[in-house]
Amino acid sequence: MDYDYDVIVIGAGPGGSMAAKTAAEKGLDVLLIEKRQEIGAPVRCAEGVSREALEEFFEIEKSWIAKEVVGAIIYGPDGSSIRMSAKMAGNEVGFVLERKIFDRALARMAAKAGADVVVKTTATSMRRVNDGVEVELKRMGESFSVRSKIVIGADGVESRVGKWAGIDTTVKIGEIESCIQYLMAGIEFDADYTHFWIGNCYAPGGYVWLFPKGEGVANVGIGVLPTKTKKGPKYHLDSFVKEHFPEGEIIEVVAGGVPVSGGLESAVADNVMLVGDAARHADPMTGGGIANAIKGGYFAAKVAKEAVEVNNFSKEFLKRYDDLWKNDFGETLSRNKAIQKKILKLDDDTLSKLIRSVSGYDLEQISLRRLMIELIKKNPRILWDLRSLFM
Ligand SMILES: Cc1cc2nc3c(=O)[nH]c(=O)nc-3n(C[C@H](O)[C@H](O)[C@H](O)COP(=O)(O)OP(=O)(O)OC[C@H]3O[C@@H](n4cnc5c(N)ncnc54)[C@H](O)[C@@H]3O)c2cc1C
Repeated sequence: MDYDYDVIVIGAGPGGSMAAKTAAEKGLDVLLIEKRQEIGAPVRCAEGVSREALEEFFEIEKSWIAKEVVGAIIYGPDGSSIRMSAKMAGNEVGFVLERKIFDRALARMAAKAGADVVVKTTATSMRRVNDGVEVELKRMGESFSVRSKIVIGADGVESRVGKWAGIDTTVKIGEIESCIQYLMAGIEFDADYTHFWIGNCYAPGGYVWLFPKGEGVANVGIGVLPTKTKKGPKYHLDSFVKEHFPEGEIIEVVAGGVPVSGGLESAVADNVMLVGDAARHADPMTGGGIANAIKGGYFAAKVAKEAVEVNNFSKEFLKRYDDLWKNDFGETLSRNKAIQKKILKLDDDTLSKLIRSVSGYDLEQISLRRLMIELIKKNPRILWDLRSLFM
């Protein structure tokens, strides 16, 4: 069979652009397609990512970063709080990106490495032909097909590539955070920190976040689980904003879903690998998915190169990709899924009690793991079933 490309990457978010960049750098013929007319816009993200997650793969450019923060403050339902350093607070704390700029920069890197990048082009279906894949594309009313050896599905939370390939990507209604976010101006907050409010009084099944983008400007958003509230996320965010930032002006609104199911059992099929939100790789506890999307894109491209070298695109061979992501962040996804499930069962009084129990600790020095151990020790009756994950 004649192939147009070694790899077609569907979706130019962080996962797709990273996959295309890496595969092209490794000498593969790559096509990166994006259905939107502009890569990176509209932004459906609070834009938080840790310094470490970016430094692992890139020389960070100043223009990507709207604001750097030193840590996170988590507020409980009764107003008690804990403060953590950025290093300790996980994958979403450190930088607040300008994703419009960041996503475009990654796509530009992919193009510079030799990938063909096309926007306003939607993958509408896909089928296996001999040893390869034929992808149907639609661009401004015109349909055409392109053949490749491998498809990397980086098509985000609404992914269809997985379904086309026969991978079960179904996410239950109780495992998708329904989110809305306002870019707010003219509000007062400590811009050196990202801020999180937890508790059913704020966000049933999720949390409210404030990610600073500059002095007086921040992404203020909410994720809720539809199984925990009949009112949509807008109702809860509006109540929060009215109470906390009545003086603010809303200058942008975005809405979207985040899968918090905790990673697919397998993200591969014959000729196909899924990365990022398409593979349900967002963190079930925080909803953050940028870091794992980038890592997944890198791993998928690495395996694509190996597959092309030995001319083997079978599911069995591509399972090397499953091994890579599972060894790297699979355990964290499972552990954080268990914590998320536990937190969902706690009422607001208990959540406040947990936060109060560690509010005297020096959390600048304590890792998330150490914090969990302290919480379990101080609250054995509430958290004892989580001990095997940490002790
Ligand atoms: C409100 C909100 C706030 C968030 N905040 C954070 C945060 O602070 N930190 C964090 O780490 N994560 C956050 N996330 C999650 C984060 O945005 C995602 O995990 C991340 O963008 C996943 O990257 P991705 O490359 O897998 O997919 P995406 O960034 O979603 O990119 C997928 C791309 O594929 C394109 N596409 C889809 N279908 C097709 C098709 N058929 N043909 C062609 N192109 C297609 C889409 O247009 C899109 O550009 C947030 C999500 C939401 C909704």
